Amino acid sequence: MKLNSNYSNLKKNYLFIDIAHRLREYTSLHPDADIIKMGIGDVTLPLAPAVVEAMKRAADEMGKKETFRGYVDDNGYDFLINAIKNYYSGFGVDLDYWEIFVSDGAKSDLGNILDLFDSDNTVLVTDPVYPVYVDTNVMAGRRIIYADANESNGFLPMPDRSVRADLIYLCTPNNPTGAAYTRAQLREWIDYAKENNALILLDAAYEAFITDPDVPHSAYEIEGARECVIEFCSLSKTAGFTGTRCGYTIVPKTLKADGDLNAMWLRRQTTKFNGVAYVVQRAAEAVFTPEGQKQIRENIAYYQQNAAILMSGLDRCNIKYFGGKNSPYIWLKCPGGMGSWEFFDRLLNEANVVGTPGEGFGKNGAGYFRLTSFSTHEKTTEAMERLYRMLKG
Ligand code: PLP
Repeated sequence: MKLNSNYSNLKKNYLFIDIAHRLREYTSLHPDADIIKMGIGDVTLPLAPAVVEAMKRAADEMGKKETFRGYVDDNGYDFLINAIKNYYSGFGVDLDYWEIFVSDGAKSDLGNILDLFDSDNTVLVTDPVYPVYVDTNVMAGRRIIYADANESNGFLPMPDRSVRADLIYLCTPNNPTGAAYTRAQLREWIDYAKENNALILLDAAYEAFITDPDVPHSAYEIEGARECVIEFCSLSKTAGFTGTRCGYTIVPKTLKADGDLNAMWLRRQTTKFNGVAYVVQRAAEAVFTPEGQKQIRENIAYYQQNAAILMSGLDRCNIKYFGGKNSPYIWLKCPGGMGSWEFFDRLLNEANVVGTPGEGFGKNGAGYFRLTSFSTHEKTTEAMERLYRMLKG
């Protein structure tokens, strides 16, 4: 028995362990400290009432002989696939029913899609990066190259024609930087992918946070995307499904490749995955009803108000930042030239606020810091007040 030796090439990810360790150390010395946590990327508001009602109804159906359901249909249930198809038509995107695959979240599909590709492919990711793109490819032994995201490109790197890549990960709106590609910028990536016979794996997990009309909700709003983009989306941040688990992946039938990627993905899924629970698919369907949309929009608006509180708080402190407008993340430049961890320690010790040091997401994150808008209005406001006092004092 031989192990997959690629696992030994994975870098240890100490980021959240280090954060927890420093926090534990501080609270053991200051047990009464009122710590405000703005580091986690998890939602805090509960599921929308329409979603909960749908889950309850579905659970009742599962408890009756006449309405009980066993194994799930291939890609997902008709009612959910049609709801997603209809949601995309709201962006002017017409998807074929068989191009939509219901999943248990974006993370699994982002990893699983790699089953379709040879290990001899060059993978391009941006730096800073959502670490899943890197680790899943390290596990498979693929060559990874980085596109620098930095202040000079607004944390939105554009294609470099002198670099060749086969698989390109784009996360827009971005975790961790909150930056989002405009239609024109995304079109450049699509042109580059087509010129190189490359494929873009587009992570749209934060699509629902977009407010800027120039930022597309789906890559398929752009001509040519159907030939070179697989899109991953999730209800985790859109509708508070981080613990409920449901997402969807779009694999166009028109992708240009040596084989039929849509058919390969269907075969992969029907072989290694047995679908998302009926109760959860009914809950997901409810997200797309007018009532569900109204309710989830209220929750998103709440988080967006937090982002606005963060942005005005940072403005008051004269701190430069990115994101926030189309995303629940604010990516700030540590004031006074502080390093990410130096700022983390000061913020924890002097303001009792916890965020995420940028260098945990890659070398270009050094000197930057991520705050999230998933807290309450009160705590977000208080955190900004404490930051102001810390810097002034
Ligand atoms: N993609 C990005 C960029 C994320 O930040 C996250 C979660 O934090 C995910 C995907 C995972 O989403 P899911 O909960 O659907 O697996």
